[in-house]
Amino acid sequence: MVVGVLALQGSFNEHIAALRRLGVKAIEVRKADQLEMVSSLIIPGGESTTMAKLAHYHNLFPALREFVKTGKPVWGTCAGLIFLANKAVGQKEGGQELVGGLDITVHRNFFGSQLQSFEAHLSAPELVSREGGPDIFRAVFIRAPAVLEAGPEVEVLAEYIVSSEKEDGHIHDKVAVAVRQGNLLGTAFHPELTADSRWHSYFLKMAREVKGGNSDSIVTVTSSPDLGLNNEEHAVNDLPIFE
Ligand code: GLN
Repeated sequence: MVVGVLALQGSFNEHIAALRRLGVKAIEVRKADQLEMVSSLIIPGGESTTMAKLAHYHNLFPALREFVKTGKPVWGTCAGLIFLANKAVGQKEGGQELVGGLDITVHRNFFGSQLQSFEAHLSAPELVSREGGPDIFRAVFIRAPAVLEAGPEVEVLAEYIVSSEKEDGHIHDKVAVAVRQGNLLGTAFHPELTADSRWHSYFLKMAREVKGGNSDSIVTVTSSPDLGLNNEEHAVNDLPIFE
């Protein structure tokens, strides 16, 4: 069994490369029956309306919903996070089809247009306690969504402080940008565009947990990876990919 990456549109190649750097084999998923071959799934960033249209065209929504319900781990990054949300606001007229599963309300373009894309260094205590490494991670936000509301079963893994001007001065507000609910992980940013492999490693551990601690479900690429990235020490050679 291998990790599947939904490959309709967006940054699927970058996810596959990030997994490969961890020595894990991933396959591109474009058809419903390919979901039967994978033990976990990544839904990448891209453009959620376009991705939804393609998923609809290939009749993938029923199979994706079924996959989420089986309890196998699914990670949505950016547009993928929107896919996994039970509710999305700030959508184009008529909305778009969602896979759902995460008890959250997501704002599709919370941080604005492409021009408002940015990077931030954020803390994620749960990630660091599991994966080690630096206390902060580099979060790349590209026309990013944010989580406005989360249900009681949703664990917030990372937040972003938004300052907004009100009549009575500045107030600080927070939005969630990384969440987990059982087998579902959602991040508003793009770890696959950085050299920090901890989010991918965290997701792979989720896959192992769901399998009852049996790591055999993850296929290791034996001949790789001699890329100078030692995951044990979380060497972060920022940033060969994004820059
Ligand atoms: N906000 C975008 C959308 O609606 C997602 C952007 C991204 O995945 N980088 O699809």
